Amino acid sequence: MAINKQWRLARTPTTGWPTDEDFLQDESAVPDPGEKQALTRTIYLSLDPYQWARRRSGLEAVGDVCHGRTVSLVLKSRNTNYREGAVIFNTNGWQEYGLAGKGISEFNYMHPRVIDPSLAPISTAIGVLGMLGLTAYSGLYIQCQPKPGETVVVSAASGGVGQNVLQIAKLKGCRVVGVVGSDEKCDFVTGALGADACINRKAADFTDQLRLACPDGIDIYFENVGGAVFEAVLPLLNKFSRISLCGLISQYGNDDTASNHDRWQKTGAEVFAKRQVKVHGLFVGNFVDEHQQPFLEEMSEWVQNNQVSYREDTWQGLDKAPAAFAAMLNGDNFGKTIVQVSSDPTSPIRKR
Ligand code: NDP
Repeated sequence: MAINKQWRLARTPTTGWPTDEDFLQDESAVPDPGEKQALTRTIYLSLDPYQWARRRSGLEAVGDVCHGRTVSLVLKSRNTNYREGAVIFNTNGWQEYGLAGKGISEFNYMHPRVIDPSLAPISTAIGVLGMLGLTAYSGLYIQCQPKPGETVVVSAASGGVGQNVLQIAKLKGCRVVGVVGSDEKCDFVTGALGADACINRKAADFTDQLRLACPDGIDIYFENVGGAVFEAVLPLLNKFSRISLCGLISQYGNDDTASNHDRWQKTGAEVFAKRQVKVHGLFVGNFVDEHQQPFLEEMSEWVQNNQVSYREDTWQGLDKAPAAFAAMLNGDNFGKTIVQVSSDPTSPIRKR
């Protein structure tokens, strides 16, 4: 019997951040594809902060195979959309093999699709050309509508979403300031990604450095982290500034509702005092139907012309998934967090 290695949720997490006890390694038989289904082998698994929210909220049940979007190879097919040998974007989760097609619950507003490996490395389907790129494009470009010369601040600027936001803002002629968690990441953000300035959020004088880097105030803030970074940004927001509220990763393990309440009061007061600050809540799923196609066309061209580059933080082997996941939530990733589960038939030696 062929074996399918997998990670299951061992318990509904009780602590703020993931621990080894939250995950259970398991094996089952490789499934046979039913009518209009295809059997696929996971090549790349995407690890994303939202997966933690699913686990903590109980949306992912104890005993379930952990959810995750994947790039997979079709091994056996009874579905004409997925021919054998094709590479597809789907949602196998944290396991070596999975089914795609009829009756497979995908929890995926990013619809399964066949990937064209000639356009870009296939891992980009879970990164710059996937949900993360679309998130950046939707929040910055569509919600905040950047104008040349405006100052844009991006938190978690070297991460999966942040690096795309930053580069799109540069392409639109903005002055761009990144915020990250290490000096090494700062060098990458101002070097390879071309930001005008970058500040290490862990520096003792972070707030002062941010103010100095934004002499004309902030016109757009792309929010990925919340907490202390958000508090440093707030007083610098200009009249008519815009915020895309994409994520609050510093708060995902914070159960202190009293402090969250205080923070909201302060935020509300500051936004009110500035007047006409537009705060856009961002949910990428709302942008898929209308904007995924134009996004893919524009972003693919930028990637092919080297106008947008991307950095992936690739861990080797499914065994590493829990450690890679915890590292990402702790800020120890450097780029989009991916687990390579099996060999990539389109580019076996490509690895960062
Ligand atoms: P990243 O690759 O950016 O990884 C997370 C980063 O968050 C870390 O590298 C770290 O960057 C930063 N971070 C972690 N902990 C803290 C902390 N306590 N304080 C400040 N920063 C911290 O992840 P993604 O690109 O996948 O996601 C970025 C954000 O976008 C997340 O908040 C996610 O939930 C959100 N998101 C929202 C979507 C939507 O539809 N609204 C869709 C997709 C993602 P550093 O150490 O460099 O600061």
